[in-house]
Amino acid sequence: MVIGCHLSVSKGFAAMGRQALSIGANTFQFFTRNPRGGKAKEIDEKDIEELLKLMVDNNFGTILAHAPYTLNPCSKDEKTREFALQTMTDDLKRMEYLPGNLYNFHPGSHVGQGIDKGIELIIAQLNAVLTDEMNTTVLLETMAGKGSEVGSKFEELKAIIDNTRLNQKLGVCLDTCHVFDAGYDIVNNLDGVLEEFDRIVGIERLKAVHLNDSMNYLGCHKDRHQKIGLGGIGLEAFERIINHPALKNLSFFLETPNELDGYADEIRTLREHYK
Ligand code: FE
Ligand code: FE
Ligand code: ZN
Repeated sequence: MVIGCHLSVSKGFAAMGRQALSIGANTFQFFTRNPRGGKAKEIDEKDIEELLKLMVDNNFGTILAHAPYTLNPCSKDEKTREFALQTMTDDLKRMEYLPGNLYNFHPGSHVGQGIDKGIELIIAQLNAVLTDEMNTTVLLETMAGKGSEVGSKFEELKAIIDNTRLNQKLGVCLDTCHVFDAGYDIVNNLDGVLEEFDRIVGIERLKAVHLNDSMNYLGCHKDRHQKIGLGGIGLEAFERIINHPALKNLSFFLETPNELDGYADEIRTLREHYK
């Protein structure tokens, strides 16, 4: 089972690898820079090399870089869109030091422009940043549908993917809290939800899973993460999620409200429930 959690990049890449090992993880997620944006740290090639070796030596799965959550490619404001473009371009350039891994971003919020305009702006952004040469898969995260978020319906993800030129570089990261909050009943009808995803987007697009319980109820459109087993999704449903044939070989990432020891506990629990 490939499982890890969100870690802080502040002490460097190799440090995240060691931290992952210390909590029983064999992957991890990190923000490419301060989540509120700003400049990313200089790349230290020796540090990256050390991480890559640690990953090989310990059989790590693919790791996941997460774009700053303020990045909004479909903002109404041109400056905000420009920031998204610059940030994503720079992030993807840096990802080439970690070839073959994943980069996840929130499609964004259309803030009153309407869903179609939002989708159009996201496609334009992807067409501007994806290159033939890149070795990273860019993931659209499934969203909870809070406010004017784009990406809470599988049809919206499909529209973005279908109309992006280099869409062989695109995939989807399924966030369990987000899809549940968006109204997809992964508790009582996991098979049905995944069949629907397959029919609309194509299951082969699914590259990673964010494992989060939800503080709220099905379809609430809230996006408040809860510890595994303590929310509306519950441990039994997570057991089915991590063992589902369509999901069980993907990389799983916890983004639950925890410190390191809490993550270690959740990783242990989920490994115990993995068949
Ligand atoms: Fe996210
Ligand atoms: Fe997430
Ligand atoms: Zn979330």
